[in-house]
Amino acid sequence: MKKMLDVIVPVYNEEACITETIQRLFNLRNILIDELDVNFIFVNDGSKDKSLEILKSFASRYPFIKVIGFSRNFGHQMAVTAGLDYSKGDYVAIIDADLQDPPELIKDMYEKSKDGYQVVYGKRLKRKAETLFKKFTAFAFYRLLDFMCQINIPTDTGDFRLITREVADAVKSMPEKHRFIRGMVPWVGFNSAPLYYNRDERFAGETKYPLSKMLKLAFDGIFSFSVKPLKFITDAGIALMIMAVAAFVSGIVFKCNISIISSVVLFVGSLQMIALGIIGEYIGRIFEEAKDRPLYIVKDKINL
Ligand code: UDP
Ligand code: MG
Repeated sequence: MKKMLDVIVPVYNEEACITETIQRLFNLRNILIDELDVNFIFVNDGSKDKSLEILKSFASRYPFIKVIGFSRNFGHQMAVTAGLDYSKGDYVAIIDADLQDPPELIKDMYEKSKDGYQVVYGKRLKRKAETLFKKFTAFAFYRLLDFMCQINIPTDTGDFRLITREVADAVKSMPEKHRFIRGMVPWVGFNSAPLYYNRDERFAGETKYPLSKMLKLAFDGIFSFSVKPLKFITDAGIALMIMAVAAFVSGIVFKCNISIISSVVLFVGSLQMIALGIIGEYIGRIFEEAKDRPLYIVKDKINL
């Protein structure tokens, strides 16, 4: 019997892309048809445009197109999580709906997995037509994450990847509410290898990741995978204490100016606020975990 591949596609307001994306995914299905049974799991993340209607019309014609519809926008990472929860395939691939990641590369990922890799992740070489701001922030974020985290999260790597059933099940067993899939997959371990590729331009429409969502993802990456920020507070406290003693001594010796002292007080005050904010991030996360709400609410389910 042929093995099964599920391709998870999160969709938020992608009416301009989705038909072309499905065509390209059909190509992939044809390329793989001799070896794999390919199903597509589209997760509509509360789109306000016609994405869901378009998906439903394809699903009514093709039983291998499966659709999960959320009751509202829960976010990209929750959409991928739902796709994983509903997947049954021996292999699971995750790909964006805007064709920035070429679907045909999933075939290459599958071939590479045969060399004994349970995870094959797409590592971006070039990012075509993205703003300098996006390129710079992404570059800086992946390096910061690498510096912060105890586990090795590959740099310049999004969620575009192929994983085996055992990895999908391991990730599914992680119940955390703030989900950062590209960190959770390396956390579970297994053998992994990169597949280098050039990231294309978005096929149509605008990015669905405004700065606010990008920051939320970045915060989830750092605060869900590292306690280093807490350690920085202690380090900063020790450094400031040494500086305070030095300032006190020099104040007596050199009769220090009052405005310097007041700016030092202000500086220390602002550092305390930042420290409280950092502690607050962790407390907020404990609060979310303690409430134990479901990760997402499903409204529509088609061919599932
Ligand atoms: N997406 C989603 N929910 C959101 C935002 C984005 O499901 O709240 C989907 C979106 O439709 C796309 C993928 O997540 O398939 C990545 O989004 P996008 O391409 O806009 O991000 P970028 O590539 O600009 O970082
Ligand atoms: Mg994109």
